[in-house]
Amino acid sequence: MTAIRLDAVSKVFEGEHLAVDELSLQIDDGEFMVLLGPSGCGKTTLLRMIAGLERVTAGEIWFGRTLGTRLAPRERGVAMVFQTGALYPNRTVQENIMFPLQIAGQDDVQAGSTAAGLAQILSIESVLDRMPRTLSGGQRQRVAIGRALVRRPQVFLLDEPLSNLDATMRTELRQEIGAMTRDLNVTTLYVTHDQVEALTLADRIAVMRDGRIEDVGTPTQVYNDPATAFVAGFLGTPRINLMAATVRVTAHHRVALDLGSQSISLDPTDRRSLILRHHDGAEVIVGARSSAFSLITTEDAPNQLTGTIRAFEFHGQQSIAFVQCGIEVVDPDKIGRVAPAHASPAAEHAPSFLTRIRSRLGLATPP
Ligand code: ATP
Repeated sequence: MTAIRLDAVSKVFEGEHLAVDELSLQIDDGEFMVLLGPSGCGKTTLLRMIAGLERVTAGEIWFGRTLGTRLAPRERGVAMVFQTGALYPNRTVQENIMFPLQIAGQDDVQAGSTAAGLAQILSIESVLDRMPRTLSGGQRQRVAIGRALVRRPQVFLLDEPLSNLDATMRTELRQEIGAMTRDLNVTTLYVTHDQVEALTLADRIAVMRDGRIEDVGTPTQVYNDPATAFVAGFLGTPRINLMAATVRVTAHHRVALDLGSQSISLDPTDRRSLILRHHDGAEVIVGARSSAFSLITTEDAPNQLTGTIRAFEFHGQQSIAFVQCGIEVVDPDKIGRVAPAHASPAAEHAPSFLTRIRSRLGLATPP
């Protein structure tokens, strides 16, 4: 096992395209970290720099106490699986998995037995004698994972390994990857733009945007207390409602949020209320997930917004109502990039959404 530390790592491609921008991140020994972000934000580039397949333009990558940026790819103890696991087409599944051990000088009997053991964990023992071209996409990915793990790497990197599989296969293999990496206790960095994969697999999620990390935390932390409006908007289906509001402090320091012609009031004990009650007139963004709303027909309930149902979608377990309330909605993708969360090398110190509101309001960061 090895911890990985990225210190202000940057990558500038030819043409001066800045793909990764002074990014700092710590992945602990044995941790399963998911790198989540939209297409083109630099996830693959970062993974390739850790594997040594891409040179860093600036910054340092550490594997435990070893400065990795100086090491050749094969010296890094890293194994990587890509979107479509490339296999040797003229070798059987078993030979494919055994190959890295044979290269390392292990005898065929021992290598064969290790490969068979891994095949069992990956549920591909029945295809060990088959050639890659006869396998399904899911089986091929399992073989690629087996081959990557057979030498017990210190660090396991996966780049969207499930993106070419159908929904059922994705769920199945996702669960197996989770179980296997936990059993092997290998430090894992898993790249995806699929939030379900991120929320279900990760010990911690790092959300990337434009070559930087915007938030790092456990799935519950980034979902419930996102560092930025972009992170709030990226996680969760249906997408969070982000609304432009003005703070209005009423009698006894109670806080109301004016949303256009409508208004809601905050619970006075809510931590947001405790901050905002000193900021009458401040403009804020209110984020509320659809689960925070319920549809009612009475007119006298507290904290109600009035609107017209524009669409109603049946999704099986839930139905989603799209309600027009005449409130200004904020598009999280259009909010500019925030102050870099990488200011501290331990990115878990990334400011929370609340802290950002505080700093926008000129408040001190809470202790
Ligand atoms: P996706 O989810 O679509 O795979 P990503 O987040 O993995 O995207 P990267 O593939 O790391 O993003 O690309 C980041 C940026 O760097 C993109 O703008 C891409 O066009 C650019 N880029 C990547 N590789 C190169 C290259 N070899 N030369 C020039 N630009 C590159």
